[in-house]
Amino acid sequence: MFQIPRGTRDFTPEEMQKRRYVEEKIRSTFQQFGYKEIQTPTFETLELFTAKSGEAIIDELYAFKDKGGRDLALRPELTAPVIRFYVDKLQMESKPLKLFYFGNCFRYDRPQKGRYREFMQAGCELIGTDTPEGIAELIGLAYTILKSVGLKDLKLFIGNLNILSSIFKTFNISKEQQKKLTPLIDKSMFNDVVLCLKDFGISEKDAQKFKEVLQASDLKIILELTEKDEQAKNEMMKLKQIFELLKNVFEIKTCEIKMSIVRGLDYYKGVVFEIDAPTLGAEKQLCGGGAYELIPLFGGRETPTSGFAIGFDRTILALDVEEYNYPSLKLDFYVIPVNEEMISKSLEITQNLRKNGLSVDMDLLKRGMSKSLKYASSINVDKIIIVGQKELVDESVTIRDMKTGAQELVKIKDLYQNLR
Ligand code: AMP
Repeated sequence: MFQIPRGTRDFTPEEMQKRRYVEEKIRSTFQQFGYKEIQTPTFETLELFTAKSGEAIIDELYAFKDKGGRDLALRPELTAPVIRFYVDKLQMESKPLKLFYFGNCFRYDRPQKGRYREFMQAGCELIGTDTPEGIAELIGLAYTILKSVGLKDLKLFIGNLNILSSIFKTFNISKEQQKKLTPLIDKSMFNDVVLCLKDFGISEKDAQKFKEVLQASDLKIILELTEKDEQAKNEMMKLKQIFELLKNVFEIKTCEIKMSIVRGLDYYKGVVFEIDAPTLGAEKQLCGGGAYELIPLFGGRETPTSGFAIGFDRTILALDVEEYNYPSLKLDFYVIPVNEEMISKSLEITQNLRKNGLSVDMDLLKRGMSKSLKYASSINVDKIIIVGQKELVDESVTIRDMKTGAQELVKIKDLYQNLR
């Protein structure tokens, strides 16, 4: 017997039905906001990902050489592939360009609930604008998608990396030191941040103040610190405007400032955001995104870009925790031939009903009436068509209602019209 590779999953028909249902909702919300779907390959050149995230990312990748000796990697995310595609072929498209994708990603992560080695992301890139309205619409879209799939319990956090940089400057924290701090900040390990700052020679008082700012949900504390920095002040104004739009236009009540969102500090800039499903525990982050700069690095003309990625698998997990009621997928009819001679006529009726847009299946196992009825009651179908010799003489079949057990004789030609 073979084992499934670690960190990967098989999905049952029931799970796939749920996944496709949610996928379609996500897709239609993207389209409602004017986004168009694109697709890129499952693997790319390794260099694409190291250029974006540095050599350290190789440890997290499924990287390999192909038979021609080329260094390739399964994609760990889709922003780099989408921007590669944009720079190569889409730069001339009119702006803003709104692109969305749905695809599997691969990361050599430590598997646990909500963390897999193969998982799906639904995401988008907004190319050509970074106005507060554009960013507010982007964040509003992420939130609307998660609401529209049926999630009730969501928390949105917004940060700003330019403001964070200004705060770093205020405390004289060098770029080298920032690199050491950001993983701790990212994991909200604030006591370790204080210890690390003291190691850098920063006073206890300042280290505590820094911690306070990272944890502040009140813009006032941050404003005080960034008062002298014009760029940071501008970013604060923008952030306030985005906040207002999210509250008033997108009606998002649970929106908080979180200066400790760092994401990929190297290429993200300006606004960053995350959406959590608090019910999920440790792996609660459903979505992450923000404004970033990648196009010039990939050889394109400088253009403002922002985007986000939603963890599709965690979205499904969160719906399960909230005990979301999925609509059930039903067959319209199950057709049972009473004996072997009736099989070809049954197949003909089945196929004609399908041509009329109905979902129909029939007994292909020649298992006899009582076993077929037992099977039909196990597969969630409301109506059965019984094809018998006697009734056929009269061009009729018997329809049985599985709930009430009531049966009626119906002319085959009336079948479609009568039963729709
Ligand atoms: P990221 O590209 O790291 O910002 O991730 C975006 C979203 O993808 C996260 O918020 C998670 O919901 C999801 N995600 C990231 N890594 C994994 C993983 N290994 N397994 C499942 N979902 C993941």
